[in-house]
Amino acid sequence: MTEPSLEFDVAIVGSGPSGASAALKLAKAGISTVIIEKERLPRYKVCGGGFVYRGLKDMSFDVSNAIEKQFYNIDIYLGSKMHLSTTRDKPIISMVMRDDFDSLIVTKAKEYGVTLLDNTKVVALEKKGNQYLIATNNNSIKAKIIIAADGAYSPVAKMAGWKTDTRALIPALEYEVYVTPEEYIKHCNSVRFDIDAIPAGYGWNFPKKNHFSIGVGCFKKTTKNIKKLCENYIEFLGIENIKSIERHGFQIPISPRTDGFVKNNVFLIGDAAGFADSITAEGISNAIYSGNLLADAIIENQIDIALIESAYLKKLNIKLLPELASAAKLSKWFYGNKSIRNLLLQKYGERFSEYFTDIFMGDQTYPTNIYESVMNKIKKEIFN
Ligand SMILES: Cc1cc2nc3c(=O)[nH]c(=O)nc-3n(C[C@H](O)[C@H](O)[C@H](O)COP(=O)(O)OP(=O)(O)OC[C@H]3O[C@@H](n4cnc5c(N)ncnc54)[C@H](O)[C@@H]3O)c2cc1C
Repeated sequence: MTEPSLEFDVAIVGSGPSGASAALKLAKAGISTVIIEKERLPRYKVCGGGFVYRGLKDMSFDVSNAIEKQFYNIDIYLGSKMHLSTTRDKPIISMVMRDDFDSLIVTKAKEYGVTLLDNTKVVALEKKGNQYLIATNNNSIKAKIIIAADGAYSPVAKMAGWKTDTRALIPALEYEVYVTPEEYIKHCNSVRFDIDAIPAGYGWNFPKKNHFSIGVGCFKKTTKNIKKLCENYIEFLGIENIKSIERHGFQIPISPRTDGFVKNNVFLIGDAAGFADSITAEGISNAIYSGNLLADAIIENQIDIALIESAYLKKLNIKLLPELASAAKLSKWFYGNKSIRNLLLQKYGERFSEYFTDIFMGDQTYPTNIYESVMNKIKKEIFN
């Protein structure tokens, strides 16, 4: 490896919401930070771009320039059997395109002194004493701490020694659908979730400024022909007069790694750690949240690796990890017991939709006993 020309306290690999948010916080505290991003920014990211209020309300600066539409109302459907609608006086979901949204956070971070090396792919790591040499396709960089914010595939986690992947990864498709102006007007006022739009999963239609981000997520790997199911879903939505469709697919890690989030000065955040919600697969807000937690741990402990590690784990264990553990249990039941779940939904659907809206708003978390309380409800239904 050639001698590094650039030296930083913290090198963050990935400019998504987790990495960019951590960088912003670190730079504000005066910690020298570089973001290394393999794509040239702004870059397209496969994502529905539905940013829920629990994430928006915690943003440290105004992101309205990147918001294309906001919805104070959401619609949840169960085929033609059930339609539930919830309303709040704050935007439940803000629609963003990730190229604009992510680069807005990066731009803010740069204002505070973060160095951005985009179009720069990390290809290898080499530990030298208590520092790393990071080899990229352009230059090599020296850093004391590496943050792997490099998303679902996280090559950096593999380079740093996470040999097996303990996260549950689910396939998801995202189609950017462009229609005629008349057709757009017909569907642009409702953000909808369709439970069972595909087996063991759901579909969404997220209206953007001038097109629809329509997708499906499947919570069981065994579901076949997901592309066909997504096409069927678009047909089911009654969207016609389509001018063009950009078809994308990716994976979402919906459970945290079970073999730790820190190894040899390398810290995992966001999708690299497996922090997307197990039920909704919503990952932007937890990506930002985890990026901020780690930045706080670094700032509070001033580059003392052992102290940072224990502070980060402590912070994760206060809310995020218990919440995700609870959500994972519920998700397994929700997507694995369709008939009984749908019976309950028809009876308690309204409560369910209000509850999930509260989670999106950040007014509720998944309680640790949610699985047990659902089971008690089922027993009551069966034996009463
Ligand atoms: C189809 C689909 C729909 C989704 N819809 C939603 C939604 O509506 N709302 C929601 O909240 N979440 C959604 N998600 C989840 C959300 O996209 C992720 O949880 C979120 O992007 C995680 O952010 P991150 O910062 O951890 O990683 P990412 O946003 O994935 O960013 C990782 C970055 O690392 C870079 N990188 C990777 N490897 C390297 C390397 N070797 N060197 C340098 N850079 C590298 C990548 O180019 C990328 O820019 C969806 C996901 C999918 C797949």
